[in-house]
Amino acid sequence: MRLKEKVTLVTGGSRGIGRAISERFAIEGSQVVINYLPDADSSSTAGSPSAEDVAQSIVASGGMASCYPADVSDSKAVGQMIDYVIESYGRLDVLICNAGICPFSRFTEITEEQWDRVNDVNLKGAFLCAQAAAKVMIPRKTGRILFTSSVSSIFGGSLQAHYCPTKGGINQLMKSVALAVGEYGITSNAVLPGTVVTDINYQQLEIDSPDLKQYFIDRTPLRRLAEPKDIASAMVFFASEDAAMISGATLVIDGGMSINLQ
Ligand code: NAP
Repeated sequence: MRLKEKVTLVTGGSRGIGRAISERFAIEGSQVVINYLPDADSSSTAGSPSAEDVAQSIVASGGMASCYPADVSDSKAVGQMIDYVIESYGRLDVLICNAGICPFSRFTEITEEQWDRVNDVNLKGAFLCAQAAAKVMIPRKTGRILFTSSVSSIFGGSLQAHYCPTKGGINQLMKSVALAVGEYGITSNAVLPGTVVTDINYQQLEIDSPDLKQYFIDRTPLRRLAEPKDIASAMVFFASEDAAMISGATLVIDGGMSINLQ
């Protein structure tokens, strides 16, 4: 119970890495608000649990969770989401900017619309949420703003020329936020996952290129890919008192894959 009585908002909190974060934060005692993309634009795959399912399962296990639909790239929707958190729980202690999309595309085939959407969701969405959260955290002089970045923020990807720049941008956004809000006792940090099999890459790694998945495993010293719960553990650390003096930091969670030159 390292996060007892905290209020945490997780964007993209119903699937993959976000779901693991929502569930783990609830286990640690936090009230969790699970943000998800409203139905019309949902990229959820058939069979994925809805945000309501995840919240209900957390509550059934004795945790505290609710859901809020909002497209993180929509400033009005983000503002209403933060208002909902404050009206419902009185404060926001931890924001986790996790929502993200990554439509794998060859560089020469990325459309302007794709570029704009990936940037709007991944980078602008993180900015909008972090800014709105900072405004309600500053008067209380406490808060944690966390970002799900990626090792793609350091490396390029031939099928991710729209995605990698958004993650590099998130690292710089995270550092700028750390500088802007540090004097109010608010920290800002980013977790950089390596490859984690979720809906975002299931088609590519499990259907189209299982050899690519094996390649990633083979070059990982720990000989396995990270799981969503590995990312959630790092988020708990950054949100906990143990990380009170850490701000502006990036933490790679990839079992050592990205330090392997072979
Ligand atoms: P995922 O299973 O596809 O989950 C993506 C989440 O983002 C979903 O909950 C989705 O909501 C939400 N989302 C997408 N667009 C949104 C929008 N406009 N507004 C609000 N929510 C939106 O993928 P994941 O792997 O867990 O990805 C989570 C984060 O980890 C992303 O930022 C991703 O870039 C990052 N990451 C993933 C990996 C990896 O290998 N999986 C590696 C490094 C970093 P709905 O369920 O409502 O559609």
